[in-house]
Amino acid sequence: MSILVLNSGSSSLKFALLDPESGEVGLSGLAERLGTPEAAVRLERGGERQTRTLAGGSYAEAFGVLLTELAAFGLRDAVSAVGHRIVHGGERFSAPVRLTPEVLDAVRACIPLAPLHNPANLAGVEAAQRAFPELPHVGVFDTAFHQTMPPVAYRYAVPEAWYREHGVRRYGFHGTSHAYVAERAAELLGRPLAELRLVTAHLGNGSSVCAVDGGKSVDSSMGLTPLEGLVMGTRSGDLDPGLHEYVAGQTGLALGGVMRALNKESGLLGLSGLTNDMRELEAAAEGGHAGARLALDVFVYRLARYVAAMGVALGRIDALVFTGGIGENSALVRSRTLERLGLLGFGVDEAANARTVRGEAGHISAQGRVPVLVVPTNEELMIARQTAQVVAEAGQE
Ligand code: AMP
Repeated sequence: MSILVLNSGSSSLKFALLDPESGEVGLSGLAERLGTPEAAVRLERGGERQTRTLAGGSYAEAFGVLLTELAAFGLRDAVSAVGHRIVHGGERFSAPVRLTPEVLDAVRACIPLAPLHNPANLAGVEAAQRAFPELPHVGVFDTAFHQTMPPVAYRYAVPEAWYREHGVRRYGFHGTSHAYVAERAAELLGRPLAELRLVTAHLGNGSSVCAVDGGKSVDSSMGLTPLEGLVMGTRSGDLDPGLHEYVAGQTGLALGGVMRALNKESGLLGLSGLTNDMRELEAAAEGGHAGARLALDVFVYRLARYVAAMGVALGRIDALVFTGGIGENSALVRSRTLERLGLLGFGVDEAANARTVRGEAGHISAQGRVPVLVVPTNEELMIARQTAQVVAEAGQE
């Protein structure tokens, strides 16, 4: 059994064909910069990599490459279902579901909550349903895992009608990743997930922290949209809501312009004035660049503050888990964050921390301190597993 997993963004398409049991990947690829002259797709099969440029640069062309490659390797008939990453499922979806016309209407209804992501996800579903009309298609929502958050964590202190009539509440994102690394962490700790209280930190271009109690999300640093919470590559994370009006008044920017700046020109990029890339920031900070140093300091400070806050949601922290491009690779960010969290019983084993990079799992806490794990995330595998499960359950009905 092979599941085709699709993650369709506004300018990218990530795909993988994989066995949901073994995790073995038959073919994977990433098309980026779609809609620009630099559009290209990187393919990987059996350790071999190739890059193809996409002359027209469109999503349809990238999808066409996927279909051609599947056929060329004789993999087309092996696909038994398609799993789609869908960013926003609102309050409607707390689990993965078969993408029926009625479900797709509900995903469309969530577009105002995720105007950049959901339309791209839906375009991917339409393309895949045209290409594989005979197969089941399943939606796996980024928000679903967080539907177990209690009202005390998900309600904003705003007029109640905004919540009731317009869904203004905290939703949380990166759910697939947080759920996956929480399960893996329990395996690595050799303890049942049901009895663990974990803080998971997904740190990549987008970053969020999640409080996971017995395998269920009870709080997330992300809110109504993926802008709230931690400092991210180009997103500001938390700020004073009064800032919008003030900045608009001072700069003459319209609200759309302020939002664009908070999403695209802020975070590590805004603070450093240099880059949104943590690797480059670390090198620049080492070389004495003041903006890069400040960006790193604020990133780590906000992260540590949020980990401590998740302790309130959980009552105790049994382990902290780092994942995502930064969480898996930046020994510096991990070490500096743990340094700030000494009051909660954290301490780092610097040698183990320095060794744990390049997608390896490992324990990095000092002897006798609260366990800290690095766990490579695998959203594709989680989506494949959940898709297979939905299909199997439907078969039993
Ligand atoms: P992601 O969105 O999960 O792919 O993560 C992207 C982020 O991970 C970027 O900020 C990268 O600079 C960062 N990253 C990847 N490798 C490293 C590394 N070796 N050291 C520090 N940051 C890294």
